Amino acid sequence: MTQKIVIIGGGPGGYVAAIRAARLGGQVTLVEKDTLGGTCLNRGCIPSKVMHTTAAFMEDLKRARELAVRLEGGFGLDMAGLMERKNKVVQAQVRGIQGLLKQNRVELVSGTATIAAPGRVDISAADGNVTSRRWDKLILATGSSPLEVPSLAFDHERIVSSDDIFNLKELPLSMVIVGGGVVGCEFASIFACLGTEVTLVEALDRLLPLPSVDADSSKVLLREMKKKKIKVYLGHTVDSIEAGDDELFVQIRPFAKDGQAAKKDPIRVKAAKVLVCIGRQADSSGLGLDKLGVKCDRRGWIMVDQHLQTSVEGVYAIGDALGPDKIMLAHVASAEAEVAAANAMGEKLVMNYNAVPGAVFTLPEVADVGLTAVQAQDRGLDCEQTAVLFRVLGKAQAMGQLAGQAKLVWEKSSRKVLGVHLIGAHATDLIAEGTLAVAHGLTVDDLASTIHAHPTLAEAMLEVSFKALGRQ
Ligand code: FAD
Repeated sequence: MTQKIVIIGGGPGGYVAAIRAARLGGQVTLVEKDTLGGTCLNRGCIPSKVMHTTAAFMEDLKRARELAVRLEGGFGLDMAGLMERKNKVVQAQVRGIQGLLKQNRVELVSGTATIAAPGRVDISAADGNVTSRRWDKLILATGSSPLEVPSLAFDHERIVSSDDIFNLKELPLSMVIVGGGVVGCEFASIFACLGTEVTLVEALDRLLPLPSVDADSSKVLLREMKKKKIKVYLGHTVDSIEAGDDELFVQIRPFAKDGQAAKKDPIRVKAAKVLVCIGRQADSSGLGLDKLGVKCDRRGWIMVDQHLQTSVEGVYAIGDALGPDKIMLAHVASAEAEVAAANAMGEKLVMNYNAVPGAVFTLPEVADVGLTAVQAQDRGLDCEQTAVLFRVLGKAQAMGQLAGQAKLVWEKSSRKVLGVHLIGAHATDLIAEGTLAVAHGLTVDDLASTIHAHPTLAEAMLEVSFKALGRQ
């Protein structure tokens, strides 16, 4: 008998699961309450990378003289044009997914899905019309939304979230960004390069304070941000925002758990906008999970086993809805989608998170895969680490993009590559080689004996493996 599969949420988790389940022979319905493509296509990966491309191009234009180009007329940003291009790119991607769903005979239903009872979801369309679908297997791919806290409540005009930022009509003259994680750092780089005066506030003592990011990458990023005139306050928080007629007055204080440093005088910064990037929250409330007894953790993230099945048999969950313990990235959502869809169709696959690349689109870019030396040591592994600077590469010299380094973490006894940590031009593309190495247990010798094209930035991997083997 054909399996009826209902998937709630049409982001990179949901639409990939829909296509996979349909190809495996399921009768699939995908329900999306907003625009197909989810956060990734509409409010995340893709629109931010369109902005990143323009920001990087403007950085290159600033180096015109160094690159022997005359720009007598000067140059400037066309913000309306940038937003128009962003919309075009997003729409083209959405159309592509619509086509794939159609080709694979996935029923796409527009509306908000609620679990009505075991085996049934109700779907409320925008016009108030309610329809139902029956399911044998259910996949929850409802994603996440920007975290909002009362002290930094969004007014969506001047105090904005990462969703609001994609609706800007004009480039803000000044902006305070709260949160130096991936999203905060990406926007700090983008807006500074576009011409906004940026202040970045991070409570912890380094930028990108994620266990997977090497501390040296954070240091290089800080140095490069300062060169772009971004004011960075590490170990600080925003404790209040006062609204003036034309500007916001943002009060920034040292962040200290013991409360001592917090007594110091606050710093007051004027800004046209405050962008709050302090994390994401679960989007699963109101979904009716209680009707089935699907368990969530105390923050509302859906709990799953290694097969991505929830506490209820036949109900799976994937993507951002699983929360930060399971890495909130689009390619992770899609990889989980493949596993959950196959399992919903009768397989028993296990989700493997061993070699997930992280890509941070700052300027310069940061990318990593596998373990840092600190993580490897915490796991009791006897490891070594070696780094080379991008400036040793002929290609980096030719490009005039010298900032950056490649670091290799490997196990001493087996010389297996445990982790690769990159910062520099095109780091997010270069991480693919490290991902292959970590995923397939390659050794430093394997990297060193692979011919790399010259002159390329990929030679960073060759140089760092030579150095690790003492051949330099
Ligand atoms: P989502 O993409 O959030 O999709 C969930 C969908 O479910 C939404 O469309 C929502 O409308 C729908 N939905 C929710 N509830 C219901 C309901 N009851 N009924 C019907 N539909 C419902 N990741 C990367 O890998 N690379 C990047 O460069 C990157 N950049 C990012 C930049 C920004 C600014 C942000 C915010 C995120 C970025 N991410 C990036 C993260 C990435 O966007 C997410 O990890 C990814 O979108 C998660 O996919 P998902 O399918 O789990 O959820």
